[in-house]
Amino acid sequence: MSARLLDGKGTAADIRSELVPRVAACTRRLGRPPTLGILLVGDDPASQVYVGTKSRAGAEIGLSVEVVSLPSTATLEAARQVVERFNASDDHDGILVQSPLPAALGPEAERALFDAIDPLKDVDGFHPANVGRLVQARPRFAPCTPAGILELLDRSGIELAGRRAVVIGRSQIVGKPVAMLLLHRHATVTICHSRTRELPAVAREAEILVAALGRPAFVTPEYVRPGATVVDVGINRVADAATIRDLLPADSPRLAAFAKRGALLIGDVHPAVADTAGAFTPVPGGVGPMTVAMLMVNTVRAAEIRLGVDG
Ligand code: NDP
Repeated sequence: MSARLLDGKGTAADIRSELVPRVAACTRRLGRPPTLGILLVGDDPASQVYVGTKSRAGAEIGLSVEVVSLPSTATLEAARQVVERFNASDDHDGILVQSPLPAALGPEAERALFDAIDPLKDVDGFHPANVGRLVQARPRFAPCTPAGILELLDRSGIELAGRRAVVIGRSQIVGKPVAMLLLHRHATVTICHSRTRELPAVAREAEILVAALGRPAFVTPEYVRPGATVVDVGINRVADAATIRDLLPADSPRLAAFAKRGALLIGDVHPAVADTAGAFTPVPGGVGPMTVAMLMVNTVRAAEIRLGVDG
């Protein structure tokens, strides 16, 4: 069996174009474009790439994106001041603190900064007030990756109500909120983590399987019920040639990209799962672009909330 590919890249492009008239309406009423403030601390290369992608996606649909970069030596207080400036600003509708933060800021830094964001500007949806609203099934800003997963499933016509969903991973940013969103759509949800026993057997019960654990190609066909919909959230940079040769068929066009760049992004799901699943999200081109599209949606929503159009 060859699985149907759920096209996150194309769906994200649709979502971005649907936003253009809403952006134009906000721009007319605000006298400026909806604006996202991003705080980037340190020099993590992946974070720099993500922030660049978000800025370009915003510019493409007419949003304004201001990136404030602080060096990895910055203090937590300096980072908090940037958040406070964005909070107080009438020119910023949405705020995002790019994670991960440098380890030197301490283990609680991420939580401290997420908590400092004005909940009405919290386009990542990580503030406790927004997490609470999500749990109560009245989200203001649903976190972008989980929201993107649900949007992709919906737009691909994957039914959720009454179906068995298994989520591998229980992080605050992916596993828990995606499980909650699936529950609100009447799926029967199991959340798995590193202490789950007999994980392959539990995963095999899923009609919808979400892999969000951060381990390259971990989910092999033995985890997958034939015909299941498999959502691969993982983004893992793999630079080891032998691993890449093991994972990809000899005629894969991605091998040329590996030879050129010396690394590839590999999901949490093994490519061989495509022969067992009924539908799956590719990496790259699946959940990643949906995450960025939902950030755009949330930023426009934040501007609409300011205008009293929404929320
Ligand atoms: P975290 O590291 O925060 O969480 C990983 C979760 O997976 C934990 O709950 C952990 O369990 C669980 N886990 C780890 N190993 C195992 C195992 N062997 N068996 C079962 N469960 C396991 O990761 P994130 O949720 O932040 O990210 C997950 C993946 O998604 C990463 O690859 C990340 O890069 C990617 N990602 C992709 C995004 C996108 O836009 N596509 C956005 C965000 C993340 P425990 O709690 O017990 O430790």
